[in-house]
Amino acid sequence: MNEVEIQGVKTLLQTPQKIVIIPHKNPDGDAIGATLALWHYLKKQQHDAVIIAPNDYPEFLKWMPGESDIVKFDYEKDRATTLLEAANVIFTLDFNDLSRIGDMETVVAACKATFVMIDHHQQPSDYAKFMYSDTSMSSTCEMIYNFISFLGDENRITPEMASCMYTGIMTDTGSFRFKATTSTTHRIIANLIDKGAENAAIHNAIYDTNSLSRLQLLGCALKNLVVLETYNTVYITISKDELTRYDFKKGDTEGFVNYGLSLKGIKFAAIFIENMQEPYVKMSLRSKGNFSVNEFARTHFNGGGHTNAAGGRSDDTMEATIDRFTKILTAYKEELS
Ligand code: 5GP
Ligand code: MN
Repeated sequence: MNEVEIQGVKTLLQTPQKIVIIPHKNPDGDAIGATLALWHYLKKQQHDAVIIAPNDYPEFLKWMPGESDIVKFDYEKDRATTLLEAANVIFTLDFNDLSRIGDMETVVAACKATFVMIDHHQQPSDYAKFMYSDTSMSSTCEMIYNFISFLGDENRITPEMASCMYTGIMTDTGSFRFKATTSTTHRIIANLIDKGAENAAIHNAIYDTNSLSRLQLLGCALKNLVVLETYNTVYITISKDELTRYDFKKGDTEGFVNYGLSLKGIKFAAIFIENMQEPYVKMSLRSKGNFSVNEFARTHFNGGGHTNAAGGRSDDTMEATIDRFTKILTAYKEELS
């Protein structure tokens, strides 16, 4: 954010505002961490703030301070719509195109509020008056830390805010191992621990609360893994039947795709998961090095994300999706070899 924009946001937030904060659909640790950290901060500054998530999120995020106050658009459409229409300021966090909020899009697009975007994905759309978009950032939570610092309030970060930001940085960096993890990220993490984030307890709450059925679903996913040696690629499939057999709960498949990428020499990993309600296949894509899964998802599967982590969907059956995927790969043979 440049000086002019920081000044603009400062002026905007000088007097108490009615604020709505929005994460993307199927919010992850970074999206929930960022919205909650900002929510705690704005409330402390006497704003009337509320978080509206497009839909529900995994159980392993539900210990986070303030989480129970999050309004879910798909459960409470009328209340959420009234809140959105009354807002003066809308923050959109961890996404950069209104298509990422699903059914909320039409309501939000019609809002008269001033939009502020804070996000680290590629190719941002142009809907926000104030835009803090930086694709080099590890996470939106790291940007929230910077945003609060830009406003001169780093010393007002509470233990609750620190825990939320720690969670998002930790989950989006794969526990501080992805390339976007810089020395600055580590310095911010150190500051967050000093400010009261209980790091060991947070790792435990996120990663060590598996159900037996989730581990069994992981076993099933690993059995389904296919290696395409020619392309240094692996893919995993999970069918609706398999999800049902292992009592699938939201968030259970999070991180599965990374097992594919952990195979020696693999540059590209995909997971295809049949949707339980509607007939489409959701996919998560991961890569190592310069192979851009963002471009791949955008070009072929109506998706997007980052260079090394992206997602998309296919309206074909699983079989047809895999068939199309393997055919598309032939065009990338050189890039992936
Ligand atoms: P995941 O595979 O963990 O769901 O998502 C990986 C990254 O890609 C995240 O940053 C997520 O926001 C983004 N992403 C996932 N699915 C989609 C999609 O359908 N469209 C776009 N534009 N981004 C996505
Ligand atoms: Mn993120």
